[in-house]
Amino acid sequence: MSKFMSSKYSNLVPYTPGEQPKDMKYIKLNTNESPFAPSEKVLEATLEEAKKLQLYSDPDCTELVKAFTEVYGVAKDEVIFTNGSDEILNFAFMAYCDDETPAVFPKTTYGFYSVFAELNHVPYIEIELNDDWSINIEDYFNAGGTVFLANPNAPTGIALSLDEIRAVIENNPDNMVIIDEAYVDFGAESAVKLIGEYDNLMVTQTFSKSRSMAGARLGFGVANAALIQDINTIKYSTNPYNVNRMSMAAGVGVLRDEEYTRKNCQTIIENREYTVQELKKQGFEMTDSKANFIFVKHPEYSGSKLQAELKKKGILIRHWSKPELEEYNRITIGTREQMQALIDAVGELLAER
Ligand code: PMP
Repeated sequence: MSKFMSSKYSNLVPYTPGEQPKDMKYIKLNTNESPFAPSEKVLEATLEEAKKLQLYSDPDCTELVKAFTEVYGVAKDEVIFTNGSDEILNFAFMAYCDDETPAVFPKTTYGFYSVFAELNHVPYIEIELNDDWSINIEDYFNAGGTVFLANPNAPTGIALSLDEIRAVIENNPDNMVIIDEAYVDFGAESAVKLIGEYDNLMVTQTFSKSRSMAGARLGFGVANAALIQDINTIKYSTNPYNVNRMSMAAGVGVLRDEEYTRKNCQTIIENREYTVQELKKQGFEMTDSKANFIFVKHPEYSGSKLQAELKKKGILIRHWSKPELEEYNRITIGTREQMQALIDAVGELLAER
């Protein structure tokens, strides 16, 4: 750190993204990306848009909002696009948390929530999960702060039902509830359809996973118009051009190819069920994931060793050294061939023990 770094941030521990090593070609099952290329419509739209890069992007994302409302059936003032959903999550910490309004989220969840809280100097309350990694929704009733729930949760993949989400919202009449649905398209129920009913609900999603656009950095929030206005106030006070031209065009393209997205999600779900079944045969234990990843441990093979040995075999998976997670690994679901390579490699490692 230089001597000029403000003391405001001198203790900030930044989020650590999954590794992206360049030393060889790996089967990448460590950062929950899609294994499928973006839709052809994304390629066509971005090539055309590149010709206009001398111009700033449209701060209102007019074309993208229009395409979105046609697919999602919400009004145009009920959605906002951001630079990945990480950005709208940060905006929500800025807009809805302060000294009197802590952020409230599970102890085991998306690691960025605590970083956003620290960055924005807001207090946060971390609530333990149940022993089976599930969320006890009553822990979030009248939370006394802004609730952040990833649904499905990360890295467990466990999803709450829409009725449970509804119960959390209804039992927080004086608090905002942010539902982070980064992985919702792989088998969980979305709360987007609830936004007209509740003035304390915001749902965030991303084009990074189900729409194969992690590199485009496109996320969005849906909520009633007053809440979207709050987030616009923050957006227009930081970077009105937060969504660049290429990503905006890509977003319009992918929304015109919903069939491709649906088909890819279905393939991921099938590959997940196949991988679950094969790893269970090898003695793995895991949660019931509704995401594009699984959260697994083997009673006789340590999580860190599995990650290190698979890396030697050219397969990347995600491991954390936090004590409560150290037995586990998170494995992104890829193509059937990638999952077969993983299953075979794991089989070899277990046989070599
Ligand atoms: N929420 C959760 C739970 C995530 O795992 C991620 C991906 N790391 C995000 C939000 C952010 O994704 P993105 O910024 O790519 O939209």
